[in-house]
Amino acid sequence: MSNDLGEISTSRMAPPEMGEPYLLTPGPLTTASEVKHAMLKDWGSWDGDFREMTADMCRRLLDIAGDKNGEFVCVPMQGSGTFSVEAMLGSFLPKDSKTLVLMNGAYGKRTAETLSYLDRDFVVLDKGDYMPPRGDEVSRLLDDDPTISHVIVVHCETSSGILNPVQEISDAVYAAGRKLLVDSMSAFGALPLDVNVIQYEAMVSSANKCIEGVPGFGFVIARKSEVEAAKGRSHSLSLDVHSQWVNFEKSGQWRFTPPTHVVAAFMEALKMHEAEGGAQGRLARYVRNRDVMVSGMRELGFETLLKDRWLSPIIVTFFNPAHPNFTFDGFYELMKKRGFIIYPGKLTVVDSFRIGCIGRMDEYVMTEVVEAAAQALREMNVESGNPPESALIERAKLAA
Ligand SMILES: *Cc1c(COP(=O)(O)O)cnc(C)c1O
Repeated sequence: MSNDLGEISTSRMAPPEMGEPYLLTPGPLTTASEVKHAMLKDWGSWDGDFREMTADMCRRLLDIAGDKNGEFVCVPMQGSGTFSVEAMLGSFLPKDSKTLVLMNGAYGKRTAETLSYLDRDFVVLDKGDYMPPRGDEVSRLLDDDPTISHVIVVHCETSSGILNPVQEISDAVYAAGRKLLVDSMSAFGALPLDVNVIQYEAMVSSANKCIEGVPGFGFVIARKSEVEAAKGRSHSLSLDVHSQWVNFEKSGQWRFTPPTHVVAAFMEALKMHEAEGGAQGRLARYVRNRDVMVSGMRELGFETLLKDRWLSPIIVTFFNPAHPNFTFDGFYELMKKRGFIIYPGKLTVVDSFRIGCIGRMDEYVMTEVVEAAAQALREMNVESGNPPESALIERAKLAA
């Protein structure tokens, strides 16, 4: 964890609307009331105002990605984030490509599954539930197999919360003359993925993660030359990034019915993102959220799955306490009663739960989360959050 907590904000953020719990889940997440209120208006998808809004949205997203020379384009895509991942894969991976999938959790698995559907050749580096794929491993695999043309990595693997080392992976991929695609769904807008710093061909994210919009669409940010080369390649009519882009270029319109209210809400979210200091400001808040929450939970005896180095400021996995009175369902309900929706774990080997750090909330809220967890443990007659020995043995396997 960072020791530099930045400036501590002096005013707390407004809570969600009356009676709504905080969503400590990595999307859908708690949104600002300004974002919700932006949806109270109908927009004609065809109308110039909405077309201008879409264009403005894309410019702002390219700004966040650091594109200065118009080398990249932004192509929004209807649907949840997975639709955009599938659109990216189907559009940028040639039919005769072979992809190395870096897998360490559910989203890496989903990528491999998608490639099977798309009938694209791939190999997998499977690191299990939460080990990070490292640059030198990627180099070795690429050296051993010159037929691999592409690599795909998940930026923050939301299933464990691990922050994968995209910079060293990108360096390894381009040193070997291959191409990188990034699933930055739960990271973009907070964690840096600047095109001038980290080389990649395309990345995807969606409306309801770090930009703090509501769900309904995703977006692909890709090198323009890759989008141009994708003509006629997609397996899917609706998920064809090239066709979608051509339509935006030609008419400023989405090809099929856009989620107008969601886009309007997202514009508000983007303005608030900018007002907070862009990705840097947002990251600072998420880091404080994580640090306050993790240190409080550790004081209660809870242990994180990951060592500090790999702990993302997006979502954190904790082991379930060893105490026989503890059940996740009981804990969940007691947290909900106090206004916090937490997330079950997604590990195969040990029982765990997750607490998200993203969404419209600050360190004051995180202090209340810890207090609620303390009360929930008391109510369950669980003296401490200490995990079982087996969990700690499992964690010890995690590379330094
Ligand atoms: C949220 C997320 C997705 C997309 O999930 P959807 O449920 O389709 O929105 C993909 N990859 C990662 C890493 C995610 O966090």
